[in-house]
Amino acid sequence: MISLLQDEPAPNQALYTYLYLAATVLFIWGIKRLGKVKTARSGNQLAAVGMLIATVTAIAETQKVSWTLIAVGLILGTLIGAVLARRVAMTAMPELVAAFNGLGGAASMFVGLAFLAVNVRSEGNATAGMTMSQLVTVPLSILIGGATLTGSGVAYLKLSGKKIVHPFSGASRHGVHAVLAILLVLSGLWMSTLAESAPQVAMAAMVIVAISCLLGVFLVMPIGGADMPVVVALLNSYSGLAAAASGFVIGNLLLVVSGALVGASGLILTQIMCKAMNRSLGNVLLGGIGDDSVAKDARDYTGIKETSPEEVAMLLDAASSIIIVPGYGLAVAQAQHVTRELGQELEKRGKQVRYAIHPVAGRMPGHMNVLLAEADVPYDRLFELERINGDFVNTDLVLILGANDVVNPAAREDKTSPIYGMPILDVDYARTVVMVKRSLSPGYAGIKNPLFEKDNTLMVFLDAKEAIQAFVTEVKEL
Ligand code: NDP
Repeated sequence: MISLLQDEPAPNQALYTYLYLAATVLFIWGIKRLGKVKTARSGNQLAAVGMLIATVTAIAETQKVSWTLIAVGLILGTLIGAVLARRVAMTAMPELVAAFNGLGGAASMFVGLAFLAVNVRSEGNATAGMTMSQLVTVPLSILIGGATLTGSGVAYLKLSGKKIVHPFSGASRHGVHAVLAILLVLSGLWMSTLAESAPQVAMAAMVIVAISCLLGVFLVMPIGGADMPVVVALLNSYSGLAAAASGFVIGNLLLVVSGALVGASGLILTQIMCKAMNRSLGNVLLGGIGDDSVAKDARDYTGIKETSPEEVAMLLDAASSIIIVPGYGLAVAQAQHVTRELGQELEKRGKQVRYAIHPVAGRMPGHMNVLLAEADVPYDRLFELERINGDFVNTDLVLILGANDVVNPAAREDKTSPIYGMPILDVDYARTVVMVKRSLSPGYAGIKNPLFEKDNTLMVFLDAKEAIQAFVTEVKEL
């Protein structure tokens, strides 16, 4: 690949170009295979091979490298990656993705700063050695990278349940954000066009770092917990844009391509998630749902009907069509294997058993698909919201395992509800609804769920794994 920084092509340039091309093809092929559950694993492996080729080629092309530093980085990175992959629970995956996005942003910011440190001239016009493209992309990679770093930090803390409140509210908040954005543009212009000496460039770069980091924090702060999945997807897109900008800075077109791929796929995911919640991106970013608080009436219920595993087993025995709705609580309880066992037991008895998957059930996109695939639940039993919603009305029994917000009828019926308009699984249209959870606590959105009080709803207050194990035992005894 022709480096934008080099006047003369490096030796073996043609070979490097072919290797970068191969890596690009592997990235795109990998992403394509990620689109289907059956091919997702191999898609991941293809992209990983692409990344290995890209990294080795970039190191070889650079030529002047410290192999000791690279070896230390490789060993440390591999160790941290291996420990995280083993230790981090599936339920904490969104936090991990937020942390990765933040580190991606930080890397791009440091590439921009390191480029300045090496290329700014101490005599004469400080930025005279930089191309027009670099004068634009250096401040961009610093500012997008900085905002992504701190924005992801706030998203990480919010996903881990920390309450973080914006110091400004209402219109003043938007005013502060607008002023910071204008200051950012002005400091970028100062750095690229007005700063004459190296200290002035350094000062402008530091101002950009400070303002972008503050803006990152301020922009994510007002966004409520229930909207965090969208924010994480958006920050993922930003980290891609920052990487693409730093690709222009150091003249590595593969970094531009892979950054653009991450930027575009993050944006597509953001759009899909907004659609799943029936919200516009603007509405999400201006801070709407939740603000991490729990509604005052979230635990005020009357007429709750509690039932026991024995009774549920009898209801299951009498039902011929059953839909299982998994949610975040199923992941917490790690009850996916025993859920599959229950499904198999019921199918052996001639029942139709299907699983209804809501796009934002759990704590990350595709969470329930991954969870059930891990337990070898046949993929053809999994039905997305649009495919199954019309069938609840003809279903004998719906078994809700640790889901709450994604089955909350307030989203359909209560115009004042913060989740009004979000598509939900219409479980309350079924003949009987059995809801397994430990208490009357609300879900992620922190709001009351009128489903608990409906005439056809029965509650089982147990840990999901304990309850399903009891259902299996009781069903086997019938
Ligand atoms: P919810 O968060 O609405 O509800 C989960 C329920 O599970 C809780 O009410 C809790 O009740 C119960 N629970 C927790 N632990 C257990 C357990 N061990 N056994 C049984 N029940 C348990 O989950 P949903 O899946 O319905 O909805 C997902 C929510 O998360 C949505 O608001 C979505 O917007 C948000 N979100 C989604 C992300 C995504 O990408 N999928 C990412 C981040 C947030 P109790 O304590 O009483 O047991």
